[in-house]
Formats: sequence, structure tokens, C-alpha cells
Amino acid sequence: EAGRKLFAAQTDFLKGVVAMNGLPPDDRIEVCFAGRSNVGKSSLINALTGRKGLARASNTPGRTQEINFFTTTDGPYLVDLPGYGFANAPVAVVEKWQKLLKSYLSGRASLRRAFVLIDTRHGIKAVDEEIMTLLDKSAVTFQAVLTKADKVKAADRDKILKQVREKLSKHPAAYPELVMTSSEKGDGIATLRAIIAGLD
Ligand code: GDP
Repeated sequence: EAGRKLFAAQTDFLKGVVAMNGLPPDDRIEVCFAGRSNVGKSSLINALTGRKGLARASNTPGRTQEINFFTTTDGPYLVDLPGYGFANAPVAVVEKWQKLLKSYLSGRASLRRAFVLIDTRHGIKAVDEEIMTLLDKSAVTFQAVLTKADKVKAADRDKILKQVREKLSKHPAAYPELVMTSSEKGDGIATLRAIIAGLD
């Protein structure tokens, strides 16, 4: 499968970053993953890399506000952005994080694509719209990745897909093609790997 090699043996956690000056040198391209807390982001990164527990580090307390970098074999960095939409995060924490996110998205020349994860059961919510608008402003192409597809009956998916497509059509930076995934069942994982492997 295209993309398999990229995610073979050498996928590894590189570092967690809390400020722009902590970013690794942009000597290769990178893709980032964004999504509401609990959308299935860690599970997706683990499924992509075939390494259970790899992205768990980013879910442990203290790591949640870091931008976490993972390496692939001769390929792009995978960049795990903190989950957003925490109901009760302190205002100061949220503001600091938003500032870092804005700087990162608008100032990272090597960032080729953002994957915005959307729970197939819920579709695009207001907090997702916020990050999509930020991506528009930052001129970062983003692609919607639907997660946990196994939780929605095939017959019910069309309605969600229609809503998602309609909302995406209003975002100039949105890439039109969606990817539907299930980290649990493996659906869409090879497709997403191939998309990442095909970026240059
Ligand atoms: P994160 O907060 O976005 O990193 O979300 P996690 O990856 O930790 O997943 C949140 C919850 O959803 C966990 O209980 C996962 O087991 C579950 N989950 C994640 N992906 C899938 C999936 O594809 N299918 C199902 N059924 N559950 C999933």
C-alpha cells in the first residue's frame, strides 16, 4: 500500500512544544491534526503509525497544551495539536494556547496540510468552525477527516456527509475530498496514509 513505508519502523515521538522557539527546524514538510477533545485524534495517530500508545503522551495531563511532533521514516512530521473545546479550561490557558496556535498556523512554512477531525456522529460544530476559519485566515489547506465511522450506521451517514460538505464549501481553505475513518476497524487508514505520503 502507498504510504505504508512512511509509517513503518521509525515513527516516533520527537518532542512537545509550548512556544514558537521550541519548534523543530523546518527541514522537512509536516501535516497537523486538529480536533475537539475526545474526537479520536490519539486513536487515529496510533492507527496511522501502527503504534498503539504512541500518541497517548499527548493526552496525559500537562501534555495537553503542547504541540506534539512525531517523526515518520523519511517523511513529514506528524503534528498533534491540542484538542480544543474543553468546557472548563481556565481562560488564561485557552488564551495562551490560541496565541501559540495562531503563530504556528500562520508562521510554519513547512506545514502542508491540516487534518481537521470531525466525529461522524456529531458533524461540524461551532468550535470546529472556529479552527476552520483560523485555517482560512492562515491560508493552510485543510482536509476534514471523519472519525469513529463504525459508530454510525451506513444508512445514517449520508445526512452527516451532506452537512459536512455544505459547511466545508464555505471555507476557502477546505480541500473538497473528505476521508471517513474508523481507528477501531481500520477503515480509511490506508487512504489517509497514502494522502500524507503523496504530499510534497
Ligand atoms: P482524543 O481525545 O481526540 O485523542 O480521543 P481518543 O483517541 O482518546 O478517543 C476518545 C474515545 O473514543 C476513546 O474511548 C476511544 O477508544 C474512542 N474511539 C476513538 N476512535 C474510535 C473509533 O474509530 N471507533 C470507536 N468505536 N471508538 C473510537
